[in-house]
Amino acid sequence: MIMHYRPLVFTLNRHLTIIRRIDDPLCLLCKEEGETSLHFLGKCCATANIRRLHFGVSFLEPGDLKQAHWITLLRFAKTTKKFQ
Ligand SMILES: [Zn+2]
Repeated sequence: MIMHYRPLVFTLNRHLTIIRRIDDPLCLLCKEEGETSLHFLGKCCATANIRRLHFGVSFLEPGDLKQAHWITLLRFAKTTKKFQ
């Protein structure tokens, strides 16, 4: 069975801007910062409530993300419905 895997970084606006697939690097959810993986996973205010459900806090620092289990990060990303 062939699985279609698209790494998270390749669908975030900051990366798509660098490779010139889109012109606007801003986060589509909050329009406040460039949409990097750090912004999406730890900083976006539009997903703070979802982050609080999965991690117990509204925002995560890079050190927090290093400590987070990958399945929790995956569940968070799925709950945001960003990648549907
Ligand atoms: Zn955002």
